[in-house]
Amino acid sequence: MALKNQYLADLLETVKKRNPGEPEFIQAVTEVLESLEPVAERRPDLVEAGVFERIVEPERQIMFRVPWVDDNGKVQVNRGFRVQFNSAIGPYKGGLRLHPSVYLGIIKFLGFEQIFKNSLTTLPMGGGKGGSDFDPKGKSDAEVMRFCQSFMTELYRHIGPDCDVPAGDIGTGAREVGYMFGQYKRLRNEFTGVLTGKGLTFGGSLARTEATGYGLCYYTDEMLKANGLSFEGKTVVISGSGNVAIYATQKATELGAKVVALSDSNGYIYDKDGIKLDVVKDIKEVRRGRIKEYLDAVPTAEYHEGCRNIWTIPCDIALPCATQNEIDGESAKILAKNGCKAVAEGANMPSTPEAIAVYFENNMLFGPAKAANAGGVAVSGLEMSQNSERLSWTFEEVDGKLKNIMKSIFAACDSAAKEYGMEGNYMAGANIAGFLKVAEAMKAQGVV
Ligand code: NDP
Repeated sequence: MALKNQYLADLLETVKKRNPGEPEFIQAVTEVLESLEPVAERRPDLVEAGVFERIVEPERQIMFRVPWVDDNGKVQVNRGFRVQFNSAIGPYKGGLRLHPSVYLGIIKFLGFEQIFKNSLTTLPMGGGKGGSDFDPKGKSDAEVMRFCQSFMTELYRHIGPDCDVPAGDIGTGAREVGYMFGQYKRLRNEFTGVLTGKGLTFGGSLARTEATGYGLCYYTDEMLKANGLSFEGKTVVISGSGNVAIYATQKATELGAKVVALSDSNGYIYDKDGIKLDVVKDIKEVRRGRIKEYLDAVPTAEYHEGCRNIWTIPCDIALPCATQNEIDGESAKILAKNGCKAVAEGANMPSTPEAIAVYFENNMLFGPAKAANAGGVAVSGLEMSQNSERLSWTFEEVDGKLKNIMKSIFAACDSAAKEYGMEGNYMAGANIAGFLKVAEAMKAQGVV
């Protein structure tokens, strides 16, 4: 879809010129600007205030060397990133991704998406993201610790509990957050809530581990109900087998669905009787193994090499929870042909623009990442509140707040879509609702 609004079309050209070689960032900006066309028409004051030009340019981008010594005594060098994208409504907030595919364009797309996601949560959090091309897979605990300590030795000077509060993402779980927090505390000589996703013994929040996966299902449940459907008795395919996928599987099953597939970057498992989550948790959370090992415990399941074909499994609901652009146009067509009624994104930007077009052509319900997976950052926001209060809330209290936040996010997407004449287009609704709050704040604060 080409932009019809000349002002936004020119802006997109500028963004493309200014950010060469960063296709994921361009993809994310294009989608948002397309959704914002009716806003640009209706709100000349925001155009006048330069909000659109300013929101696509990060406030600050930090890149740094991360040297560390491996178990063989060899010096290794990775590249570290923190993109502080927008602080109009609160301190920068967003995860740290540790994966060999990380480069500036990935961090910028994630940081840009984070602005709107954090706004949708209704909590006071700006948008940021960071990470490194370090691959924790196959590294010893000692190597991961030395990397995390070196990474934080630079990052600490740029973050703080009222300035920028990183969290986990792909490759950054409780172990990595723990090592980074320890190093920050040592360097600053202060105990503050500078990272979220911390262990429960040092300021972490109950239900943070479950938050993104649970939140995804709460959001999806709202979207299904609003359209006369539910999880009850439905077949669900979930990609990935990390933090988001595991807790999405748990909640979808609790809500009455049968999850039949999970994957990792090597391949996928299909268990027609429903995934046994205790087996997956043991492989992934305890042993850091591969999803293929599921067959050792459940020999009746199938394992297929390569993860893309997971979308050929017939399902009613698809929850991509692995990584960006994992559903392309072809996979989306197969989902539609097999009768899939809804796709909700646990991962960030897992659907290509071609896939999204297929969802709409086939009247499938579509829950976009920045709304559907906002539960993780929402509970991170609640962790920040608990840290500031020096209190810990119960699991039920946090889970209850998470559920209400996800409900209100769905309601905001739904009503913004209706208000701007695109009923049922929750992607446009999420982009518009997320944008407007940040835009009003940017306008009120002047040209900064
Ligand atoms: P984890 O590291 O816990 O798990 C990631 C899963 O996705 C693993 O199964 C991994 O397989 C798979 N995966 C990662 N990269 C690729 C790839 N390039 N191709 C195929 N599979 C891949 O990460 P999370 O579960 O935390 O994150 C998953 C997604 O959810 C990401 O897009 C993340 O940005 C998003 N997200 C996470 C939040 C959170 O709170 N954790 C919050 C909001 C969004 P393998 O082990 O083989 O690499």
